[in-house]
Amino acid sequence: MKAEGTNLCWICGQPIDLGLPPNHVMAWTLDHYVPLSLGGDPLDPANAREAHRRCNSARGNGPPPNHVRTTREW
Ligand SMILES: [Zn+2]
Repeated sequence: MKAEGTNLCWICGQPIDLGLPPNHVMAWTLDHYVPLSLGGDPLDPANAREAHRRCNSARGNGPPPNHVRTTREW
C-alpha cells in the first residue's frame, strides 16, 4: 500500500479532496503550525501544514490542537 500524494488534514486527520472549489468548507488550505501572529515563518516549509478550510478557520490562531497543554502562558 502506497500513499500516492494523499493529502491529509493535519488537524482532523481526514483526507482533503483537492477537486473541491477553493471556497468550499472542506477545500484544501495551507495552515501554519506556528501561527504567523505568533512569529511563525510563512516561507518555511517545515511550518506549513495542509488542512481543510473548515478546520483551519475553526482553529484560528490558537495553539496546535494536539499540542500537550502546559502551564506556560502565551
Ligand atoms: Zn480537517
